[in-house]
Amino acid sequence: MPEKLIIIGSGPAGWTAAIYAARAELKPLVFEGAVTEENRIAGTLPLGQLALTTEVENYPGFPAGHLGGFLETAISEERRAYLPPGNPHGVQGPELLELMRQQAVNFGTRIITEDITTVDFSQRPFRMTALDGKSYEADCAIVATGARANYLGLPSEEKYKNHGVSGCAVCDGAIPRFRNKPLAVIGGGDSAVEEATYLTKYASTVYLVHRRDKLRASKIMAERAAANPKIKFLWNRSVDEVLGNEKEGVTGMRLNSTTGEPAAEFPIAGFFLGIGHTPNTTFLKGALQMNDKGYVVWTTPGRTNTSVPGVFAAGDVADDCYRQAVTAAGTGCMAALDAERFLAEHGE
Ligand code: NAP
Repeated sequence: MPEKLIIIGSGPAGWTAAIYAARAELKPLVFEGAVTEENRIAGTLPLGQLALTTEVENYPGFPAGHLGGFLETAISEERRAYLPPGNPHGVQGPELLELMRQQAVNFGTRIITEDITTVDFSQRPFRMTALDGKSYEADCAIVATGARANYLGLPSEEKYKNHGVSGCAVCDGAIPRFRNKPLAVIGGGDSAVEEATYLTKYASTVYLVHRRDKLRASKIMAERAAANPKIKFLWNRSVDEVLGNEKEGVTGMRLNSTTGEPAAEFPIAGFFLGIGHTPNTTFLKGALQMNDKGYVVWTTPGRTNTSVPGVFAAGDVADDCYRQAVTAAGTGCMAALDAERFLAEHGE
């Protein structure tokens, strides 16, 4: 017998879809991704991007407070090892995801800790094959595999991830280590300019480091950044190395010049990437309509429908605009409701 619903992905979109689908008695099966070194390096481990951040201050419902007692009863001791003791902050990214995962399990969600590596959406039931070679069939599928921030690929950048290196200013900008300190944003598009502008709320100075002498960002956003006295543009510069140490994390950056200027070092406490995102859609290989940036296309306005009836998409994998935990959770809910309606209409 095929599954009623398979959900691929384990960020806020996947777990919210699972919570709603499980409560609707669709008995969802979630592929949360495999725990492999490849996925760790690519930033695609189970629980997604939010699990790579620290405090989450902008997810509604989690003001600062002490959730310790609740967590002790809700989450097994083994998984609790990853949660910080005492919960002194609103909520930590990994903690929020563990809570979502547990909430989905509480309603009967089943989980397989594997990647789906190929799909056949050409007919129903849909067939999905995991990394270990096993195939699964389902009447409906929700793709919620997210997108990953692009990094430059420097070893020093990898070393200080979560210790001053971040792919998400909105997620991490407000944490104490960045307050009133010089920070850097790499990139010249709308994301970089938006991140730099956002970070001026907290930083003493934000260096916007771009490899050319002209921004790609839209005119209005570029003008706003140029008018901001806290933003200093470093043109024609490429990053040679992120500087730091074990104790403090990031302490500086060394930049090369693309126009023959000497290399230069800048003291910074935070190094933010704004060089674009890559949706995790390789495994779909033409099975669904994608846009020119590789994101899954929602084919019906206001719905999570994809180009294949019965396959829905939720979260960042289909959203190159908002990319927030709360919007991912919102579209996860929508996808589960869309799947429920689809199955009802098809008598399943
Ligand atoms: P993007 O437009 O592709 O810009 C990426 C930037 O990063 C470019 O300036 C690029 O330099 C630079 N870059 C790429 N790889 C690099 C590397 N290896 N080393 C150094 N620099 C590198 O990406 P985005 O800014 O994320 O924007 C994506 C889409 O979302 C755009 O359509 C954008 O308009 C939209 N967006 C809109 C808003 C908004 O309206 N509020 C906010 C964010 C994003 P080059 O310029 O030299 O190629």
